[in-house]
Amino acid sequence: MSFTLAIVGRPNVGKSTLFNRLVGKRLALVDDQPGVTRDLREGAARLGQLRFTVIDTAGLEEATDESLQGRMRALTERAVDMADLCLFMVDARTGLTRQDLVFADILRKRADGRVIVATNKAEGQAGEAGFYEAYNLGLGEPVAISAEHGEGMDELRIALTPWAEQFEAQTAEVELDLEAGDEASGRPMQIAVVGRPNAGKSTLINKIIGEDRLLTGPEAGITRDSISVPFTWGDTKMKIFDTAGMRRKAKVQEKLEKLSVSDGLRAVKFAEVVVVVLDTSIPFESQDLRIADLAEREGRAVVFAANKWDAEENRAEKLAMMKEQLGRLLPQLSGAPLITVSALTGRGLERLREAILKQHEVWNKRVSTAVLNRWLNDQLEAHPPPAPGGRRIKLRYMTQVKSRPPTFAVFCSIPDALPESYKRFLINGLRRDLDMPGTPIRLELRKRD
Ligand code: GDP
Ligand code: GDP
Repeated sequence: MSFTLAIVGRPNVGKSTLFNRLVGKRLALVDDQPGVTRDLREGAARLGQLRFTVIDTAGLEEATDESLQGRMRALTERAVDMADLCLFMVDARTGLTRQDLVFADILRKRADGRVIVATNKAEGQAGEAGFYEAYNLGLGEPVAISAEHGEGMDELRIALTPWAEQFEAQTAEVELDLEAGDEASGRPMQIAVVGRPNAGKSTLINKIIGEDRLLTGPEAGITRDSISVPFTWGDTKMKIFDTAGMRRKAKVQEKLEKLSVSDGLRAVKFAEVVVVVLDTSIPFESQDLRIADLAEREGRAVVFAANKWDAEENRAEKLAMMKEQLGRLLPQLSGAPLITVSALTGRGLERLREAILKQHEVWNKRVSTAVLNRWLNDQLEAHPPPAPGGRRIKLRYMTQVKSRPPTFAVFCSIPDALPESYKRFLINGLRRDLDMPGTPIRLELRKRD
Protein backbone atom coordinates (compact mmCIF):
# COMPACT_ATOMS: atom_id res chain seq x y z
CA MET A 1 0.00 0.00 0.00
CA SER A 2 1.73 3.06 -1.05
CA PHE A 3 -0.68 5.78 -0.03
CA THR A 4 -4.24 6.53 1.04
CA LEU A 5 -6.63 8.58 -1.05
CA ALA A 6 -9.83 10.01 0.42
CA ILE A 7 -12.70 10.79 -1.93
CA VAL A 8 -14.54 13.77 -0.53
CA GLY A 9 -17.34 16.00 -1.72
CA ARG A 10 -21.01 16.68 -1.15
CA PRO A 11 -23.58 13.90 -1.53
CA ASN A 12 -24.53 12.75 -5.01
CA VAL A 13 -21.50 13.95 -6.90
CA GLY A 14 -20.56 10.30 -7.57
CA LYS A 15 -18.07 9.39 -4.84
CA SER A 16 -19.37 5.88 -4.31
CA THR A 17 -19.51 5.26 -8.00
CA LEU A 18 -15.82 6.11 -8.30
CA PHE A 19 -14.96 4.17 -5.16
CA ASN A 20 -16.63 1.08 -6.58
CA ARG A 21 -14.85 1.49 -9.87
CA LEU A 22 -11.42 1.81 -8.21
CA VAL A 23 -11.95 -1.00 -5.76
CA GLY A 24 -13.85 -3.42 -7.96
CA LYS A 25 -14.31 -6.56 -5.94
CA ARG A 26 -11.37 -5.84 -3.70
CA LEU A 27 -13.40 -4.22 -0.98
CA ALA A 28 -11.75 -4.35 2.40
CA LEU A 29 -13.64 -4.99 5.58
CA VAL A 30 -16.85 -3.05 5.55
CA ASP A 31 -17.77 -2.63 9.12
CA ASP A 32 -21.30 -1.67 9.95
CA GLN A 33 -20.82 -1.74 13.70
CA PRO A 34 -21.64 1.51 15.39
CA GLY A 35 -18.46 3.39 16.07
CA VAL A 36 -16.41 6.33 15.12
CA THR A 37 -15.83 5.27 11.57
CA ARG A 38 -19.05 3.63 10.57
CA ASP A 39 -19.46 6.09 7.75
CA LEU A 40 -16.10 5.55 6.15
CA ARG A 41 -15.52 2.75 3.70
CA GLU A 42 -12.03 1.59 2.92
CA GLY A 43 -10.84 -0.47 -0.02
CA ALA A 44 -7.77 -1.56 -1.95
CA ALA A 45 -7.77 0.44 -5.16
CA ARG A 46 -6.15 -0.17 -8.47
CA LEU A 47 -5.73 2.29 -11.29
CA GLY A 48 -3.40 1.14 -14.04
CA GLN A 49 -0.12 0.37 -12.32
CA LEU A 50 -1.05 2.34 -9.22
CA ARG A 51 -2.08 0.56 -6.05
CA PHE A 52 -3.41 2.48 -3.10
CA THR A 53 -5.97 2.54 -0.33
CA VAL A 54 -9.09 4.52 -0.98
CA ILE A 55 -11.50 5.92 1.61
CA ASP A 56 -15.05 6.77 0.66
CA THR A 57 -16.95 9.34 2.69
CA ALA A 58 -20.27 8.70 0.98
CA GLY A 59 -21.94 7.36 4.09
CA LEU A 60 -24.49 10.12 4.36
CA GLU A 61 -27.69 11.06 2.66
CA GLU A 62 -28.21 14.51 1.27
CA ALA A 63 -27.50 16.81 4.19
CA THR A 64 -30.51 18.95 4.80
CA ASP A 65 -30.60 19.82 8.44
CA GLU A 66 -27.89 21.27 10.60
CA SER A 67 -26.93 18.09 12.43
CA LEU A 68 -26.29 16.32 9.18
CA GLN A 69 -24.19 19.21 7.96
CA GLY A 70 -22.12 18.91 11.09
CA ARG A 71 -21.72 15.17 10.74
CA MET A 72 -20.75 15.51 7.13
CA ARG A 73 -18.13 18.05 8.01
CA ALA A 74 -16.76 15.88 10.79
CA LEU A 75 -16.66 12.87 8.53
CA THR A 76 -14.86 14.75 5.82
CA GLU A 77 -12.35 16.17 8.25
CA ARG A 78 -11.65 12.73 9.57
CA ALA A 79 -11.11 11.35 6.10
CA VAL A 80 -8.80 14.25 5.23
CA ASP A 81 -6.73 13.59 8.35
CA MET A 82 -6.46 9.90 7.64
CA ALA A 83 -5.50 10.26 4.02
CA ASP A 84 -2.27 11.21 2.34
CA LEU A 85 -4.16 12.79 -0.50
CA CYS A 86 -7.73 13.96 -1.17
CA LEU A 87 -9.78 13.70 -4.31
CA PHE A 88 -12.30 16.51 -4.13
CA MET A 89 -15.20 15.63 -6.34
CA VAL A 90 -17.71 18.07 -7.77
CA ASP A 91 -20.53 17.56 -10.25
CA ALA A 92 -19.60 18.92 -13.65
CA ARG A 93 -23.23 18.99 -14.75
CA THR A 94 -24.68 21.08 -11.97
CA GLY A 95 -21.63 23.31 -11.57
CA LEU A 96 -20.42 24.53 -8.21
CA THR A 97 -22.92 24.80 -5.39
CA ARG A 98 -22.78 26.51 -2.03
CA GLN A 99 -22.10 23.15 -0.43
CA ASP A 100 -19.13 22.54 -2.71
CA LEU A 101 -17.63 25.76 -1.42
CA VAL A 102 -18.00 24.56 2.16
CA PHE A 103 -16.04 21.44 1.27
CA ALA A 104 -13.44 23.44 -0.60
CA ASP A 105 -13.00 25.50 2.50
CA ILE A 106 -12.43 22.43 4.69
CA LEU A 107 -9.83 21.18 2.24
CA ARG A 108 -8.07 24.48 2.01
CA LYS A 109 -7.74 24.63 5.78
CA ARG A 110 -6.90 21.03 6.43
CA ALA A 111 -5.32 19.29 3.51
CA ASP A 112 -2.11 21.35 3.13
CA GLY A 113 -2.43 21.35 -0.63
CA ARG A 114 -2.80 17.60 -0.84
CA VAL A 115 -5.84 17.90 -3.09
CA ILE A 116 -6.81 16.91 -6.59
CA VAL A 117 -10.09 18.26 -7.92
CA ALA A 118 -12.18 15.97 -10.09
CA THR A 119 -15.22 17.15 -12.03
CA ASN A 120 -17.42 14.11 -12.38
CA LYS A 121 -20.25 13.27 -14.75
CA ALA A 122 -18.18 14.87 -17.50
CA GLU A 123 -19.12 12.40 -20.21
CA GLY A 124 -20.39 14.13 -23.33
CA GLN A 125 -20.51 17.92 -23.60
CA ALA A 126 -22.69 18.66 -20.60
CA GLY A 127 -19.79 18.86 -18.19
CA GLU A 128 -17.60 21.38 -19.95
CA ALA A 129 -18.79 24.51 -18.19
CA GLY A 130 -18.53 22.78 -14.82
CA PHE A 131 -14.97 21.77 -15.58
CA TYR A 132 -13.83 25.35 -16.24
CA GLU A 133 -15.80 26.63 -13.29
CA ALA A 134 -13.86 24.25 -11.04
CA TYR A 135 -10.67 26.23 -11.66
CA ASN A 136 -12.27 28.93 -9.52
CA LEU A 137 -11.93 26.74 -6.47
CA GLY A 138 -8.25 27.63 -6.44
CA LEU A 139 -7.31 24.04 -5.69
CA GLY A 140 -5.38 23.39 -8.84
CA GLU A 141 -6.18 22.06 -12.24
CA PRO A 142 -9.25 19.84 -12.24
CA VAL A 143 -9.44 16.43 -13.85
CA ALA A 144 -12.58 15.70 -15.86
CA ILE A 145 -13.89 12.20 -15.26
CA SER A 146 -16.95 10.07 -15.60
CA ALA A 147 -17.00 7.62 -12.75
CA GLU A 148 -20.00 5.85 -14.20
CA HIS A 149 -18.62 5.44 -17.68
CA GLY A 150 -15.00 5.03 -16.76
CA GLU A 151 -13.85 8.06 -18.70
CA GLY A 152 -10.88 10.16 -17.63
CA MET A 153 -9.39 7.35 -15.60
CA ASP A 154 -6.08 7.67 -17.37
CA GLU A 155 -5.98 11.40 -16.68
CA LEU A 156 -6.78 10.65 -13.07
CA ARG A 157 -3.95 8.13 -12.94
CA ILE A 158 -1.56 10.70 -14.39
CA ALA A 159 -2.66 13.26 -11.81
CA LEU A 160 -2.11 10.75 -8.99
CA THR A 161 1.24 9.46 -10.16
CA PRO A 162 3.54 12.24 -8.90
CA TRP A 163 1.88 11.95 -5.51
CA ALA A 164 2.23 8.19 -5.52
CA GLU A 165 5.91 8.58 -6.32
CA GLN A 166 6.36 11.09 -3.55
CA PHE A 167 4.73 8.86 -0.95
CA GLU A 168 6.63 5.87 -2.19
CA ALA A 169 9.90 7.72 -1.92
CA GLN A 170 9.01 8.54 1.65
CA THR A 171 8.47 4.94 2.61
CA ALA A 172 10.95 3.17 0.37
CA GLU A 173 13.72 1.33 2.12
CA VAL A 174 17.08 0.12 0.94
CA GLU A 175 16.64 -2.74 -1.48
CA LEU A 176 13.24 -3.40 0.00
CA ASP A 177 10.15 -3.40 -2.13
CA LEU A 178 7.31 -2.29 0.07
CA GLU A 179 4.48 -3.46 -2.15
CA ALA A 180 2.14 -5.66 -0.20
CA GLY A 181 1.12 -9.11 -1.30
CA ASP A 182 4.35 -11.05 -1.58
CA GLU A 183 2.63 -14.36 -2.12
CA ALA A 184 0.65 -13.01 -5.01
CA SER A 185 3.64 -11.33 -6.61
CA GLY A 186 5.88 -14.36 -6.07
CA ARG A 187 8.53 -12.11 -4.61
CA PRO A 188 10.79 -13.96 -2.18
CA MET A 189 10.70 -13.13 1.49
CA GLN A 190 13.91 -11.40 2.48
CA ILE A 191 15.64 -12.85 5.49
CA ALA A 192 18.76 -11.77 7.32
CA VAL A 193 20.59 -14.10 9.69
CA VAL A 194 22.59 -12.05 12.15
CA GLY A 195 24.36 -12.54 15.45
CA ARG A 196 27.74 -12.49 17.06
CA PRO A 197 30.64 -14.36 15.49
CA ASN A 198 30.56 -18.10 16.19
CA ALA A 199 26.90 -18.11 17.15
CA GLY A 200 26.39 -20.56 14.30
CA LYS A 201 25.03 -18.40 11.50
CA SER A 202 26.83 -20.14 8.65
CA THR A 203 26.03 -23.56 10.01
CA LEU A 204 22.38 -22.56 10.29
CA ILE A 205 22.15 -21.10 6.82
CA ASN A 206 23.84 -24.14 5.33
CA LYS A 207 21.44 -26.41 7.14
CA ILE A 208 18.42 -24.44 5.96
CA ILE A 209 19.53 -24.31 2.39
CA GLY A 210 20.45 -27.94 2.59
CA GLU A 211 23.69 -27.82 0.73
CA ASP A 212 27.14 -26.44 1.22
CA ARG A 213 26.29 -23.59 -0.96
CA LEU A 214 27.77 -20.88 1.21
CA LEU A 215 30.92 -22.86 1.73
CA THR A 216 31.52 -22.99 -1.98
CA GLY A 217 31.47 -19.23 -1.68
CA PRO A 218 30.25 -16.46 -3.88
CA GLU A 219 31.29 -16.71 -7.48
CA ALA A 220 33.21 -13.94 -9.12
CA GLY A 221 30.88 -11.29 -10.37
CA ILE A 222 28.52 -11.34 -7.44
CA THR A 223 28.71 -8.13 -5.51
CA ARG A 224 31.11 -8.66 -2.72
CA ASP A 225 29.13 -6.67 -0.19
CA SER A 226 25.69 -8.01 -0.70
CA ILE A 227 25.40 -11.65 -1.45
CA SER A 228 21.84 -12.82 -1.36
CA VAL A 229 21.05 -16.44 -1.86
CA PRO A 230 17.61 -17.39 -3.20
CA PHE A 231 16.08 -20.70 -2.13
CA THR A 232 12.79 -22.31 -1.19
CA TRP A 233 12.08 -23.32 2.37
CA GLY A 234 8.96 -25.43 2.65
CA ASP A 235 6.69 -23.72 0.15
CA THR A 236 8.09 -20.29 0.71
CA LYS A 237 10.47 -18.57 -1.60
CA MET A 238 13.11 -16.78 0.40
CA LYS A 239 16.32 -14.90 -0.04
CA ILE A 240 18.97 -14.97 2.63
CA PHE A 241 21.52 -12.27 2.95
CA ASP A 242 24.82 -13.98 3.46
CA THR A 243 27.13 -12.19 5.80
CA ALA A 244 29.08 -15.32 6.56
CA GLY A 245 30.64 -15.42 3.12
CA MET A 246 32.19 -12.07 3.78
CA ARG A 247 33.18 -12.93 7.28
CA ARG A 248 35.26 -15.86 6.15
CA LYS A 249 37.59 -13.44 4.46
CA ALA A 250 38.50 -11.86 7.74
CA LYS A 251 41.35 -13.57 9.52
CA VAL A 252 42.03 -11.47 12.54
CA GLN A 253 39.60 -11.66 15.43
CA GLU A 254 39.41 -7.90 15.91
CA LYS A 255 38.72 -7.26 12.30
CA LEU A 256 36.12 -9.95 12.40
CA GLU A 257 34.18 -8.29 15.20
CA LYS A 258 34.06 -5.02 13.33
CA LEU A 259 33.04 -6.62 10.11
CA SER A 260 30.22 -8.53 11.69
CA VAL A 261 28.65 -5.37 13.05
CA SER A 262 28.59 -3.50 9.76
CA ASP A 263 27.58 -6.68 7.95
CA GLY A 264 24.74 -7.10 10.34
CA LEU A 265 23.68 -3.55 9.69
CA ARG A 266 23.52 -4.05 5.97
CA ALA A 267 21.74 -7.35 6.38
CA VAL A 268 19.13 -5.78 8.63
CA LYS A 269 18.41 -3.03 6.15
CA PHE A 270 17.93 -5.59 3.44
CA ALA A 271 15.64 -7.85 5.39
CA GLU A 272 11.97 -8.18 6.08
CA VAL A 273 12.54 -10.74 8.81
CA VAL A 274 15.71 -10.69 10.89
CA VAL A 275 16.75 -13.95 12.55
CA VAL A 276 18.99 -13.18 15.49
CA VAL A 277 21.10 -16.24 16.19
CA LEU A 278 22.12 -16.58 19.82
CA ASP A 279 24.71 -18.94 21.19
CA THR A 280 22.74 -20.60 23.98
CA SER A 281 25.82 -20.91 26.15
CA ILE A 282 26.22 -17.12 26.11
CA PRO A 283 22.87 -15.62 25.08
CA PHE A 284 22.03 -11.91 24.86
CA GLU A 285 25.58 -10.66 24.76
CA SER A 286 25.94 -6.95 24.13
CA GLN A 287 26.42 -7.54 20.39
CA ASP A 288 23.22 -9.57 20.26
CA LEU A 289 21.35 -6.81 22.03
CA ARG A 290 22.73 -4.16 19.75
CA ILE A 291 21.76 -5.95 16.57
CA ALA A 292 18.29 -6.90 17.85
CA ASP A 293 17.71 -3.31 18.88
CA LEU A 294 18.87 -2.15 15.48
CA ALA A 295 16.43 -4.53 13.79
CA GLU A 296 13.64 -3.11 15.92
CA ARG A 297 14.61 0.46 15.18
CA GLU A 298 14.73 -0.31 11.48
CA GLY A 299 11.23 -1.70 11.85
CA ARG A 300 11.96 -5.29 10.88
CA ALA A 301 10.21 -8.43 12.07
CA VAL A 302 12.46 -10.29 14.50
CA VAL A 303 12.83 -13.96 15.44
CA PHE A 304 15.39 -15.26 17.93
CA ALA A 305 17.04 -18.60 17.27
CA ALA A 306 18.71 -19.97 20.41
CA ASN A 307 21.32 -22.13 18.75
CA LYS A 308 23.52 -25.00 19.96
CA TRP A 309 20.56 -26.33 21.93
CA ASP A 310 22.00 -29.83 21.46
CA ALA A 311 24.89 -28.89 23.73
CA GLU A 312 22.69 -27.50 26.50
CA GLU A 313 22.21 -29.60 29.61
CA ASN A 314 19.81 -27.64 31.83
CA ARG A 315 17.28 -26.94 29.17
CA ALA A 316 14.21 -25.95 31.16
CA GLU A 317 16.21 -23.64 33.35
CA LYS A 318 18.07 -22.15 30.41
CA LEU A 319 14.92 -21.49 28.42
CA ALA A 320 13.24 -19.74 31.35
CA MET A 321 16.34 -17.65 31.83
CA MET A 322 16.53 -16.63 28.18
CA LYS A 323 12.86 -15.66 28.10
CA GLU A 324 13.34 -13.58 31.19
CA GLN A 325 16.40 -11.90 29.64
CA LEU A 326 14.56 -11.21 26.43
CA GLY A 327 11.70 -9.50 28.27
CA ARG A 328 14.02 -7.51 30.48
CA LEU A 329 16.83 -6.56 28.09
CA LEU A 330 14.73 -6.07 24.97
CA PRO A 331 11.31 -4.88 26.12
CA GLN A 332 10.83 -3.22 22.74
CA LEU A 333 10.64 -6.73 21.26
CA SER A 334 8.59 -8.29 23.99
CA GLY A 335 6.76 -11.35 22.75
CA ALA A 336 9.12 -11.98 19.85
CA PRO A 337 9.49 -15.73 19.30
CA LEU A 338 12.51 -17.42 20.81
CA ILE A 339 13.04 -20.76 19.12
CA THR A 340 15.54 -23.30 20.37
CA VAL A 341 17.43 -24.89 17.49
CA SER A 342 20.47 -26.89 16.67
CA ALA A 343 22.01 -25.81 13.43
CA LEU A 344 24.27 -28.81 13.69
CA THR A 345 21.57 -31.49 13.87
CA GLY A 346 18.72 -29.56 12.28
CA ARG A 347 16.46 -29.91 15.31
CA GLY A 348 13.95 -27.06 15.69
CA LEU A 349 14.33 -25.74 12.16
CA GLU A 350 10.72 -26.44 11.26
CA ARG A 351 9.59 -24.42 14.27
CA LEU A 352 11.97 -21.69 13.23
CA ARG A 353 10.45 -21.65 9.76
CA GLU A 354 6.94 -21.38 11.18
CA ALA A 355 8.00 -18.54 13.45
CA ILE A 356 9.53 -16.67 10.52
CA LEU A 357 6.33 -17.01 8.49
CA LYS A 358 4.18 -15.95 11.41
CA GLN A 359 6.29 -12.88 12.17
CA HIS A 360 6.30 -11.92 8.53
CA GLU A 361 2.53 -12.13 8.53
CA VAL A 362 2.23 -10.01 11.65
CA TRP A 363 4.60 -7.49 10.17
CA ASN A 364 2.34 -7.21 7.12
CA LYS A 365 -0.82 -7.01 9.16
CA ARG A 366 -3.57 -4.47 8.49
CA VAL A 367 -6.21 -3.68 11.07
CA SER A 368 -9.43 -2.04 9.96
CA THR A 369 -10.10 1.45 11.18
CA ALA A 370 -13.36 0.39 12.80
CA VAL A 371 -11.69 -2.34 14.86
CA LEU A 372 -8.94 0.05 15.90
CA ASN A 373 -11.33 2.70 17.10
CA ARG A 374 -13.43 0.29 19.07
CA TRP A 375 -10.22 -0.88 20.67
CA LEU A 376 -9.10 2.70 21.34
CA ASN A 377 -12.42 3.58 22.96
CA ASP A 378 -12.08 0.59 25.29
CA GLN A 379 -8.58 1.70 26.29
CA LEU A 380 -9.69 5.26 26.89
CA GLU A 381 -12.52 4.08 29.09
CA ALA A 382 -10.39 1.71 31.12
CA HIS A 383 -7.34 4.00 31.37
CA PRO A 384 -7.95 7.57 30.31
CA PRO A 385 -4.80 9.50 29.47
CA PRO A 386 -3.41 11.59 32.30
CA ALA A 387 -4.09 15.28 32.56
CA PRO A 388 -0.63 16.85 32.99
CA GLY A 389 -0.96 20.20 34.69
CA GLY A 390 -4.72 19.82 34.59
CA ARG A 391 -4.76 19.80 30.79
CA ARG A 392 -7.03 17.10 29.49
CA ILE A 393 -5.58 15.30 26.50
CA LYS A 394 -8.17 14.02 24.09
CA LEU A 395 -7.45 11.11 21.80
CA ARG A 396 -10.03 11.35 19.03
CA TYR A 397 -9.50 8.33 16.85
CA MET A 398 -6.82 6.30 15.16
CA THR A 399 -6.05 4.59 11.91
CA GLN A 400 -3.35 2.33 10.51
CA VAL A 401 -1.35 4.36 8.03
CA LYS A 402 1.03 1.64 6.91
CA SER A 403 2.16 -1.93 7.46
CA ARG A 404 5.67 -3.42 7.33
CA PRO A 405 5.93 -2.63 10.22
CA PRO A 406 2.43 -1.83 11.48
CA THR A 407 2.23 1.95 11.84
CA PHE A 408 -0.67 3.77 13.43
CA ALA A 409 -1.68 7.41 13.65
CA VAL A 410 -3.54 8.62 16.69
CA PHE A 411 -5.26 11.97 16.43
CA CYS A 412 -4.77 13.86 19.62
CA SER A 413 -5.68 17.30 20.98
CA ILE A 414 -2.23 18.01 22.48
CA PRO A 415 0.24 15.49 20.98
CA ASP A 416 3.24 16.99 22.75
CA ALA A 417 1.69 16.59 26.16
CA LEU A 418 0.91 12.87 25.89
CA PRO A 419 3.46 11.10 28.09
CA GLU A 420 5.75 8.48 26.60
CA SER A 421 4.39 6.01 29.14
CA TYR A 422 0.88 6.35 27.75
CA LYS A 423 2.16 5.86 24.24
CA ARG A 424 3.90 2.70 25.40
CA PHE A 425 0.71 1.59 27.09
CA LEU A 426 -1.10 1.90 23.77
CA ILE A 427 1.64 0.13 21.81
CA ASN A 428 1.76 -2.76 24.26
CA GLY A 429 -2.01 -2.98 24.18
CA LEU A 430 -2.06 -3.10 20.38
CA ARG A 431 0.48 -5.90 20.45
CA ARG A 432 -1.47 -7.87 23.00
CA ASP A 433 -5.07 -7.31 21.88
CA LEU A 434 -4.61 -7.31 18.13
CA ASP A 435 -2.22 -10.24 18.03
CA MET A 436 1.00 -8.58 16.94
CA PRO A 437 3.55 -10.09 19.31
CA GLY A 438 7.17 -9.15 19.02
CA THR A 439 6.75 -6.83 16.10
CA PRO A 440 7.95 -3.26 15.98
CA ILE A 441 4.88 -1.06 16.18
CA ARG A 442 4.98 2.59 15.31
CA LEU A 443 2.58 5.07 16.82
CA GLU A 444 2.46 8.59 15.45
CA LEU A 445 0.58 11.32 17.21
CA ARG A 446 -1.08 13.87 15.03
CA LYS A 447 -2.67 17.09 16.08
CA ARG A 448 -6.43 17.19 15.96
CA ASP A 449 -8.58 19.57 18.03
P1 GDP B 1 -22.13 9.97 -3.77
O1 GDP B 1 -23.30 10.35 -2.93
O2 GDP B 1 -21.20 11.13 -3.95
O3 GDP B 1 -21.43 8.74 -3.33
O4 GDP B 1 -22.70 9.71 -5.24
P2 GDP B 1 -23.07 8.33 -5.94
O5 GDP B 1 -21.87 7.60 -6.36
O6 GDP B 1 -24.08 7.63 -5.12
O7 GDP B 1 -23.74 8.89 -7.28
C1 GDP B 1 -24.85 9.78 -7.27
C2 GDP B 1 -25.59 9.67 -8.58
O8 GDP B 1 -24.77 10.14 -9.64
C3 GDP B 1 -25.96 8.23 -8.93
O9 GDP B 1 -27.24 8.23 -9.50
C4 GDP B 1 -24.92 7.86 -9.99
O10 GDP B 1 -25.41 6.89 -10.87
C5 GDP B 1 -24.65 9.17 -10.67
N1 GDP B 1 -23.32 9.24 -11.26
C6 GDP B 1 -22.16 8.87 -10.70
N2 GDP B 1 -21.13 9.05 -11.56
C7 GDP B 1 -21.66 9.54 -12.69
C8 GDP B 1 -21.11 9.94 -13.96
O11 GDP B 1 -19.92 9.82 -14.22
N3 GDP B 1 -22.00 10.40 -14.88
C9 GDP B 1 -23.34 10.49 -14.65
N4 GDP B 1 -24.08 10.97 -15.61
N5 GDP B 1 -23.87 10.14 -13.47
C10 GDP B 1 -23.06 9.65 -12.49
P1 GDP C 1 29.08 -18.03 12.62
O1 GDP C 1 30.33 -17.32 12.93
O2 GDP C 1 27.95 -17.43 13.37
O3 GDP C 1 28.78 -18.19 11.17
O4 GDP C 1 29.23 -19.49 13.26
P2 GDP C 1 29.60 -20.88 12.55
O5 GDP C 1 28.42 -21.38 11.79
O6 GDP C 1 30.87 -20.73 11.83
O7 GDP C 1 29.75 -21.78 13.82
C1 GDP C 1 30.71 -21.51 14.83
C2 GDP C 1 30.98 -22.78 15.59
O8 GDP C 1 29.85 -23.26 16.29
C3 GDP C 1 31.40 -23.93 14.67
O9 GDP C 1 32.41 -24.64 15.29
C4 GDP C 1 30.14 -24.75 14.55
O10 GDP C 1 30.41 -26.12 14.31
C5 GDP C 1 29.54 -24.59 15.92
N1 GDP C 1 28.08 -24.75 15.87
C6 GDP C 1 27.22 -24.13 15.04
N2 GDP C 1 25.96 -24.54 15.28
C7 GDP C 1 26.01 -25.43 16.27
C8 GDP C 1 25.03 -26.21 16.97
O11 GDP C 1 23.82 -26.17 16.71
N3 GDP C 1 25.45 -27.00 17.97
C9 GDP C 1 26.77 -27.09 18.32
N4 GDP C 1 27.08 -27.90 19.29
N5 GDP C 1 27.72 -26.37 17.68
C10 GDP C 1 27.36 -25.56 16.67
